[in-house]
Amino acid sequence: MGQGEGGNAVSALRPSNLPKLAVCPCYESNPVAGPAAERGTLLDTAFRAELLGLEERFVIANKLTADEIAAVSWSVSMVRAMSGRERVLAREDDCRVKILNLTGTADAIVPMKFTHFDLKTGARRNYREQMAAYALGLMGAHFASSWTAHLLFCDQREIETHKFTYEEAHAIVDQVVKSFHDPAKKPNPCEYCGWCAKADTCPARLAMVGETLTVTEPGFDFDALLADPEKLGRFLAASAVVEDFRERAKKIATERLKTGGVVPGWKLVTRKGSEFVDCETVGHHIQRMGFGPVLNAYGNLSAAKFRDLWSQRMPSEKPFPEEAVKHAAPSTYLKQSKTKPN
Ligand code: SF4
Repeated sequence: MGQGEGGNAVSALRPSNLPKLAVCPCYESNPVAGPAAERGTLLDTAFRAELLGLEERFVIANKLTADEIAAVSWSVSMVRAMSGRERVLAREDDCRVKILNLTGTADAIVPMKFTHFDLKTGARRNYREQMAAYALGLMGAHFASSWTAHLLFCDQREIETHKFTYEEAHAIVDQVVKSFHDPAKKPNPCEYCGWCAKADTCPARLAMVGETLTVTEPGFDFDALLADPEKLGRFLAASAVVEDFRERAKKIATERLKTGGVVPGWKLVTRKGSEFVDCETVGHHIQRMGFGPVLNAYGNLSAAKFRDLWSQRMPSEKPFPEEAVKHAAPSTYLKQSKTKPN
């Protein structure tokens, strides 16, 4: 997965950053790993330990939820099924990859099949450039002219496969490296800004904020903006950046007011806590009230929570009833799709 990879700790140019640098050549990873990255590292460690059959896998499994254990087991079973009887390398030292001047670590390599696997947690994203970098290094190390990368999206139980020839992988990595070193490179506000170390100071984002604040002055013709798809798209993109800054500013202002500081025009308000009855009390009365009406009032349980409860409360030989998992109707939301500026 590539946590902590790279020859130079401060360099943004490392395989795991290539997908972000392909969109914004000025991206710089935040040195503070967020909870999502920490979870990724933990599941990655569990995946390696399970593949290698290490004793410590039991200790690691204690830190995971039942759903996470199931996600890791699924990933391991995919590697086993796809590698057949071939040897799978999973020790970090065996999976280290050198590419041009970059270094990274693949999650599992099957040299005889010219294949590697990379475990991914969280939302499905683009990892093509990172996979191209690993493929390039592994082709060099294993004297191969083509290479296959399997991305294991363990939370979704989905596999995405990328096949590269040496030339293809080289061209993909080279393009990102060149744009990273381009002295005229420009920041490109994108979906990765929230993770970027420059999020609060980036001139491109500050310019977007300036643009949005200017258009909201008197005389701003909102109807005309709504009628023009081009202007509407730009306004939404700029507003998203303003919203991001607003969230960060709210945190700082709250902290300042809590510690006795002043933010003119703003104050902290304490809301009355909502009323509730704790679950022990409900349990005490549930027999008389009837399980059905009480459970109905509680509503549906997420599949992950039910899985967790099942693994804790049911005998291990009782398989989880997959048919009990229902899917809510899909919902529609607006997502920014254009990541390159005009
Ligand atoms: S904040 Fe966004 S646009 Fe600016 S350098 Fe970082 S990723 Fe690029």
